[in-house]
Amino acid sequence: MSEVNYFDKTFEMYIPNWEIQNLVMRLASEINRDYGRVEEEVVLISILDGSFIFMADLIRQLEFDHHVQFVKLTSYKDMSSTGVVDFVLDVQTDLRGKHIIIVEDIVDTGLTIESFLEQLQLREPASIRICTLLSKPDEHNDIVPLDYVGVDIPPEFVIGYGLDLNGLGRQLRDIYKLKV
Ligand code: 5GP
Repeated sequence: MSEVNYFDKTFEMYIPNWEIQNLVMRLASEINRDYGRVEEEVVLISILDGSFIFMADLIRQLEFDHHVQFVKLTSYKDMSSTGVVDFVLDVQTDLRGKHIIIVEDIVDTGLTIESFLEQLQLREPASIRICTLLSKPDEHNDIVPLDYVGVDIPPEFVIGYGLDLNGLGRQLRDIYKLKV
């Protein structure tokens, strides 16, 4: 499909699935390189809802044992960030002394990840790194350090591969961008 329609909006093909899989493989090999030999426990924390497909693909490329956790923060309303972060679902395990990798689908303004990072630091993990499939550097101006980035994109609104518009479009295998 070169175009899809949701509500009154048209989205055009942007990143095909084969390219997404290449990004995931590259990210996984960077993470394998950095964590393959650490002695402490490693916990990957996926920020729901958008990152569940990315998380599932990513961990199946990891070559070391790790724990998986999911958190749900206040959701992205419509097509602009709210900047308000509350837990709807919190981490279910003690993080003290463990290495944390936050897995995010997309970093836009960076407010969600910045706020989440502050909350995680209070739990005294050994380290925290951030892995995101997509990043919009023009929007967040590096307010948080992103350790593993699949690809930088311009400030476009995208859907597919877990990302939605008002709850729809997550099942799309490819990533689409809003057509203007
Ligand atoms: P931020 O706090 O960085 O502005 O936004 C983070 C969250 O907003 C992401 O986890 C994602 O759920 C949502 N988001 C940001 N940009 C987009 C986008 O282009 N498309 C969709 N579907 N969600 C986005």
